[in-house]
Amino acid sequence: VIFRVAINAPLPGLFDYLAPADWDTSQAAEGCRVEVPFGRSRTVGVIAGVSPSSEIPGQRLKRAGRVLDQSPLFKQPMLRFLGWAAAYYQHPPGEVYASALPLALRQGKPLGDRQLAWALTKEGRQQDPVVLARRAPRQWDLWQRLHHRADGIGEFELATLPSGWRDTLRRMADKGWVSDHPVAAAASREPVIHPGPQLTPDQRSAADQVTTSLGGYESFLLFGVTGSGKTEVYFDAMEAVLRAGRQVLLLVPEIGLTPQLMERIAGRFDAHLATLHSGLADGERLKAWREAASGRAHIVVGTRSAVLVPLHKPGLIVVDEEHDPSFKQWEGFRYSARDLAVVRASMEGVPIVLGSATPSLESLGNVQRGRYRQLDLAERPGAAVHPEIRLIDLRAHASTEGLSTPLVVTMGQHLEAGGQVLLFLNRRGYAPTLFCPGCGWTSRCQRCDAGMVLHQRQRRLHCHHCDTRRPVPVACPECQQPLAPVGQGTERIEETLGRLFPVYPMVRIDRDTTQRKGAMAEKLDDIRSGRARILVGTQMLTKGHDFPEVSLVGVLNADQGLFGTDFRASERLAQTIVQVAGRAGRAERPGLVLIQTLYPEHPLLTRLVSDGYAAFAEAALQERRESGWPPFSHLVLLRAESARMAQTMAFLEAASSLLNLPPALQCKVLGPAPAPMEKRAGRFRGQLLLESHQRQGMHALLAGWLKEIRELPESRRVRWSLDVDPIELF
Ligand SMILES: [Zn+2]
Ligand SMILES: [Zn+2]
Repeated sequence: VIFRVAINAPLPGLFDYLAPADWDTSQAAEGCRVEVPFGRSRTVGVIAGVSPSSEIPGQRLKRAGRVLDQSPLFKQPMLRFLGWAAAYYQHPPGEVYASALPLALRQGKPLGDRQLAWALTKEGRQQDPVVLARRAPRQWDLWQRLHHRADGIGEFELATLPSGWRDTLRRMADKGWVSDHPVAAAASREPVIHPGPQLTPDQRSAADQVTTSLGGYESFLLFGVTGSGKTEVYFDAMEAVLRAGRQVLLLVPEIGLTPQLMERIAGRFDAHLATLHSGLADGERLKAWREAASGRAHIVVGTRSAVLVPLHKPGLIVVDEEHDPSFKQWEGFRYSARDLAVVRASMEGVPIVLGSATPSLESLGNVQRGRYRQLDLAERPGAAVHPEIRLIDLRAHASTEGLSTPLVVTMGQHLEAGGQVLLFLNRRGYAPTLFCPGCGWTSRCQRCDAGMVLHQRQRRLHCHHCDTRRPVPVACPECQQPLAPVGQGTERIEETLGRLFPVYPMVRIDRDTTQRKGAMAEKLDDIRSGRARILVGTQMLTKGHDFPEVSLVGVLNADQGLFGTDFRASERLAQTIVQVAGRAGRAERPGLVLIQTLYPEHPLLTRLVSDGYAAFAEAALQERRESGWPPFSHLVLLRAESARMAQTMAFLEAASSLLNLPPALQCKVLGPAPAPMEKRAGRFRGQLLLESHQRQGMHALLAGWLKEIRELPESRRVRWSLDVDPIELF
């Protein structure tokens, strides 16, 4: 018998080993971890398959060591799913399996899925409860709980008791009244579900369509304007799943959003929750993974990597804010958690709900093709009115430090009327460049094709691309004249607002002001309690937070997105504007959104402002169709970087010449060309883009092409990677 093992190494394919001599076929193998000799050392891999024979001659096969698990960590269809993901993204399967395992399990440590249960001994049962209640009320309390449970209570359940149970239990054990025995940790309590609010007709209809589909695969796009109550639809469907005794996997874009959401979930479901995100310590991650895999957790909430975590009995997958780019993994195994979630749902045979107020054009394209069913939530519950959006022509109005006169005047009116004002600027720091009026010197990063941003309070120049930091020069390094900051970042806007509106307390939210643990929570509290009246922030401020008292939103520079080099730039801009606008006018106040722009006649902006996101998306999809960009074609991007541009380009040229594209594939090759940002962190970057309407045909070529690329001598002189379905072309 041959074990086909996935080993955590940057090598393609699985590795064949002879099954250990003492292994018999009644033992589990597939999906279990196994110790194997690898190179000069030993390592832990996952048995991805068992096969009667190998293509490698018997005498060259090594024998596997111990199988580490008694039952598989990954069962079908999870094994098939991980194998599919590795093949689709052309990534070494061992690294894909490793991404699906917590560190301790990757290292071969035991799963620890057995727990101790405690039960009363014969002597313990004979105690007189009346005496016990008088002498030791805590012991009496625990005694009563144990008395009803002949098979004992597991330590996980005991852990939910008020603190101090451990001491009490030890005292009882010392007297010989209780004893422990190991049990499987699978059992979990029944979830208790609290009634939710009355659903609106839209919500009711959406939730019913999802619940009707439970038990089979179906993809839904839940398109609900901000504040339309998507969460209530998720919750209603989740309730049905929990009642059926199955688990829910809920994917969210960022860890910052998790506490707020967890609070809402906990308020509605008295159920076992497991959270998975990058901020967890290794031990916590292992625990959450185990609870998801064992079925103990009813609801698993996580960021993108949670899509790789096995579930014992999945019932529903939800991807909240499905348009969010953070579902894409940028390093190593470059996958889209949203796209994988859809594949996983289809393999597991469960429905999936992709929710957003600003759905990605990919998902809307899938609705057009009939692959997803669209569910609309149009009305805002509680009769709150939609915010009005207006453009401010920056060419026609004077502005002070990036704030136009109409914006400043309107801000004053809203503040006097008691409202909160939110200003959005997606640029942190004081100013994007420091400039010498004498000789034209600017603060460029020496390692990147980018300016160094001035951070006034920290007194330094900071490159946001490679993290280089330098002290702020006292004068121009070339001609010794005084330097001037050019442009605005959030820090400078905050300073200007402090001069314009000195009496109104202000909060700034960006990466610089929220680094300290707890800082974000404090600031959000200042906003919700109304202590802060003006809010200035970057993207961080726009995601998932509700600010009911905000009556005016200002978008300071919309133009960055209009002429971006990436074909997705306009989609991102529209999503950002709609998401920011969604913060205004949530309660009974009607909201107003002012967008400052130099291009008020831009067709895209006017479409968005007058007709809303759905109309914008329709036009944008039409544009993509005409130009043949995704979702009307499929992209594969080969990226490379090295210390010299010539080296980078030589590799890409060589890789390009290996391409043997059948004309029937109609595959376009763009490049090789230098990346839009040619130099980053001292390395010169280039790329080669493949574009085809036939995904399967193009994919069939990739494995062979990659194999040849790996053998190129040029490939050893560069750092290269392949990105299937890249979401940015940088
Ligand atoms: Zn100068
Ligand atoms: Zn840099």
